[in-house]
Amino acid sequence: MTKVEIEYDYSGIDRVAGIPTTGQLITFQKQMAKVQTSYKCNITEARDHGWSWIMCTDAQWILKKGITAPVPVPVDPGPYTGDTNILNAAHKQVLKIYEEYEEHKRNTNKAIQACFDEDLFIELETDGLLLGVSPHEVYQHMWMNFILKVDKDREILNARELLKVDYDPDRIVQHYYKAINEARELLTGLRETVTDAEVMRNAYATFEKNIDLKDACREWNRGTLTTWEEMRKHFSKEIQMNKTDPAIMKRTELANAVLAQSKVDENTQRQASEVLVLQTQKIQELEARIEQQQLANSATNNEIPGRIPASISTGSSNGSSAGGSSATSTVTKEEMMQMFSQFTQNMQQGEGTNPTKAKKKSKFEGEYIKNDLGNGQRSKRRYPNSTSYCPSCGYDIKPTHTPSTCTNRKDCHNEAATLANKMGGVTTNCHFVT
Ligand SMILES: [Zn+2]
Repeated sequence: MTKVEIEYDYSGIDRVAGIPTTGQLITFQKQMAKVQTSYKCNITEARDHGWSWIMCTDAQWILKKGITAPVPVPVDPGPYTGDTNILNAAHKQVLKIYEEYEEHKRNTNKAIQACFDEDLFIELETDGLLLGVSPHEVYQHMWMNFILKVDKDREILNARELLKVDYDPDRIVQHYYKAINEARELLTGLRETVTDAEVMRNAYATFEKNIDLKDACREWNRGTLTTWEEMRKHFSKEIQMNKTDPAIMKRTELANAVLAQSKVDENTQRQASEVLVLQTQKIQELEARIEQQQLANSATNNEIPGRIPASISTGSSNGSSAGGSSATSTVTKEEMMQMFSQFTQNMQQGEGTNPTKAKKKSKFEGEYIKNDLGNGQRSKRRYPNSTSYCPSCGYDIKPTHTPSTCTNRKDCHNEAATLANKMGGVTTNCHFVT
């Protein structure tokens, strides 16, 4: 019978120089597991994970997908002693698995020796070989002897944060479960214990924040389900149901509409403030230009009113500057007085011809009186001297407004109506009649 022979391909495994860090050890284990998983393991408990179990602690192993029990370690069946074909076949099968196991151990140890400095294993080696030591023991040896506590603690803190990851309702919930499981695997690799209770506490906290999962949370609290697996199934189902619930779809639609509206508002506001900035810039620009113009004017023409030159000499001047060609900003007291009178004159003229002021004449012989009682009625008269009545407009109207001149006639309008005989006309403001 031919002996089993296996040679690992290490090309996907990083070489680590010097003393490994926590991160490097964990990475090594992952890369190793990938190689080991690619080899089929004919032990039922290994499921789809090939030979990766030989590098795992029990806690790590049980977290793997579909795994419910540890893998029984193959033992040497010894020489065949049976006398039937069936027993012979069974013995062959057991021996083959045992030989495979030995080969995977040998290859894994070889990989460890190839990827790490040999100084790390001096205590474990016999003639340069890791004989009689399982890869798991070698790995544990590195873990126990070379990992700094601060380094490990930092990794643990990071991984604990990963465990608190939030559920993102825009992605299918399985992404969330996967992230949780990865954080958990990492912590377990760091020899930390993560209980189902802790994972469930975190999961509940993030689900609870989601308004669409309010009912699902209530349902969960009321129910009798208690395991993490049950919790995963429960929320997966609820989330799936929410996706087709018209009420929730409507709510999402509304929420999205509000979100879109607030974005529009934000835009409008931003545009308005941009306009404001532009306006302010324009005004400042114009102000600067006016000032420049005024400065230029005052330098060349002192008769421009409204601008007093920058430097004023009040001393007894010889008056040489008046009409002088020097065009300096020095003026005499007399010139200044003249300028001032010219200025005020201009101002008065300007006011006199200002059309807006003249137009503001009151509509009602004085102050404006509001219809403060509603329905066109007021507590104060607009036309205190008028006794006119109109069946469409009522009392307290212009003295010239009569039933026959009314231009605002209603259905109840009768030209023959009077204050004494309204003939079905309105009583608006008739409370003024004494
Ligand atoms: Zn009228």
